Amino acid sequence: MMKVPFLNLSAQHAPLRGELDRAIAAVIDNDAFAGGPFVAEFEKQFASFCGTNHTMGVSNGTDALWLALLACGIGAGDDVITVPSTFMATAEAITYSGATPVFVDIDEETYTMDPHRLEQALTSRTKAVIPVHLFGQMADMDPIMEFARAHDLTVIEDAAQAHGAEYKGRRAGSIGHAGCFSFYPGKNLGAFGEAGAVVSNDVGIRDRIRVLRDHGQARKYHHTEIGWNCRMDGIQGAVLSVKLRHLERGNQLRRAHAAHYERLLRAIDEIQTPRVKTHAKHVFHVYAVRIQRRDEVIRVFEENGIGFGVHYPIPVHLQEAYARLGYGEGSFPIAERLAQEFLSLPMYPELTSEQVQLVAETLKECVVEGVPA
Ligand SMILES: *Cc1c(COP(=O)(O)O)cnc(C)c1O
Repeated sequence: MMKVPFLNLSAQHAPLRGELDRAIAAVIDNDAFAGGPFVAEFEKQFASFCGTNHTMGVSNGTDALWLALLACGIGAGDDVITVPSTFMATAEAITYSGATPVFVDIDEETYTMDPHRLEQALTSRTKAVIPVHLFGQMADMDPIMEFARAHDLTVIEDAAQAHGAEYKGRRAGSIGHAGCFSFYPGKNLGAFGEAGAVVSNDVGIRDRIRVLRDHGQARKYHHTEIGWNCRMDGIQGAVLSVKLRHLERGNQLRRAHAAHYERLLRAIDEIQTPRVKTHAKHVFHVYAVRIQRRDEVIRVFEENGIGFGVHYPIPVHLQEAYARLGYGEGSFPIAERLAQEFLSLPMYPELTSEQVQLVAETLKECVVEGVPA
């Protein structure tokens, strides 16, 4: 029996079960399965949540990134700057747009794009920058936007881990030209399956994504360009509308658990807890600590029924799939070192304070006292 699971979606859904069942029944009763009114209603609510004019619901977060790139005119021959410390999808979307991912190393404190390194990655082909709000803390957007303005670049935020996060009072997704979200079940706002969204204040981007996500149709059976099928399901729209009402509260609870972990772990030299910038509102999609000898800690967690994750064990530039980009070990020393050190602890609103304590005590014991061989 797992004492502290890494994720616990059933605990999240149990108190909402009646609301969720009614929302799904309404979709069935209205035959509104692909796109349609429930998606449109969620789009309105999510735009208001993010503080943007528009939301375009799509099939998943990877498609959100891909469509945002296409809608911004990024394609073959272009370079797009992003970070290697992210989920593979950020780079895949760049590759699928026809462009080439170019990486810059991360800031050692926030684990997000280091704006000081943008200059050295700039080429005559650079067209866009994708900062990733890793683990729920936003990248340092002011200098990134300033750099983009100076070089006429598009900024697309990968906000897949940052629903409701803030930077100087502005919400994730609302600062760049477009912001991309995933509603994969385990994200801070999760669907009952696959879903994603692009948010933007730009009417041109909105209109282009609405056409691209629906086979390039400007109206039914009139295809003005080659698109694809990236629509959001009606059921996902309805479920997301229900769960969005509880997102703020969930994020608050995540912050409270993070503060609890911080109190229990901050005095331990062998553990580096997450740093939250004073201008940031962190939403702790992932609570990652940095430790040495991670394999030993993982063994103790497994023996004690404590869930964990590693986000991510291999930085994207060292993935076999991207060998052709020609980056070797040592290209991005901070990303590479942190990939060895990160250990994600259980983090979700429904964690109990006893569970946080048990995880922290177990971790503390094995890094301070060492692990019996
Ligand atoms: C989850 C995630 C994605 C991809 O979203 P999907 O909905 O799984 O396609 C992209 N970028 C980051 C940083 C993510 O965490």
